[in-house]
Amino acid sequence: MTDHSIIVTDRIADEGLALLRDGGVHVEYVPGLPKDELLERIGYHDALIVRSETKVTRDLLDRATRLRIIGRAGVGVDNIDVASATGRHILVVNAPDGNTVAAAEHTIALLLALARQVAVAAATLASGGWDRSRFLGMQVRGKVLGIIGFGRIGRTVADIARNGLRMDVLAYDPYCPASAMEELGITPVDDLAALLRASDAVSLHVPLTADTTTLIGAHELQLMRPHALLLNVARGGLVDEEAVVRALDAGSLGGAAFDVFATEPLPPESPLRTHPRVLVTPHLGASTHDAQRFVAIDVAEQVLRFLRGETPTSGVNLAEVQQ
Ligand code: NAD
Repeated sequence: MTDHSIIVTDRIADEGLALLRDGGVHVEYVPGLPKDELLERIGYHDALIVRSETKVTRDLLDRATRLRIIGRAGVGVDNIDVASATGRHILVVNAPDGNTVAAAEHTIALLLALARQVAVAAATLASGGWDRSRFLGMQVRGKVLGIIGFGRIGRTVADIARNGLRMDVLAYDPYCPASAMEELGITPVDDLAALLRASDAVSLHVPLTADTTTLIGAHELQLMRPHALLLNVARGGLVDEEAVVRALDAGSLGGAAFDVFATEPLPPESPLRTHPRVLVTPHLGASTHDAQRFVAIDVAEQVLRFLRGETPTSGVNLAEVQQ
């Protein structure tokens, strides 16, 4: 193993790094390395480990003559050109489970904060105010939460909302059997429009793909109830942000909370930053110490396993690369 070399170009938790260093491989830990330097250095490494900051593009892979595996410490691989990696027989592995609870808990935090206008109320106190009458909120118990995408995070949010908050939960996911929803006491809905019409709050938990880009646009927002809340802790690009601002201003949507944006960092001039009915966080869904530890350990173990000649557990393109 000692002749193997791993480059880690985003910050990962110490526990994951320690595993790599104890794994008998050479580790170059260079979070934030400028792209031109990465282009120069990538050719010396067998493995690359990233979070979401490093963009693993085709031109980078063109220089990655030794690279055999890319590890993503997290779930979404949209910062990696997986097709180009596959074409070069480079395996991409991710850590799909480590973030689930963190992202689900952040969704619930945003739901409650939006329903009770916590951020705006806190900001008025910070600027010297004390306005109690402005902030009448919405109780969530007994209200309808519509979940779009019933995967790991969607079903965790559904479970907390139903069993913890005692909301009525609907779910729309054309790829998930209705029985998996019903087992958890969740009502399956096979039509997105029906879910949007019936929900007091709607939460997105789908990947960003060609099919899901602008899944929620002006037309879908029109179907939502005027007091309804929209939550996106999944991926920017799923929602037409400008249409959301228009719907809020027109009174046809009650509020929106976004952790992710079409452009990140969110541009300083974006109206989402200051809109009184919008709550924004800077892509914090996975940002707990616990989740960062889980994903770093998971991906480190998989990369080491692969370099030892074993099969990793979460190969995104495993089937194609093995062909
Ligand atoms: P997952 O793959 O477990 O679940 C996604 C679900 O979406 C699947 O069940 C799939 O069938 C469903 N789906 C796909 N297309 C759909 C469509 N058109 N309509 C309805 N359902 C559809 O993924 P996950 O781990 O639950 O992650 C969900 C999202 O959260 C991803 O976009 C991921 O990148 C994002 N995420 C964000 C953060 C953050 O920091 N904010 C952290 C972790 C994950």
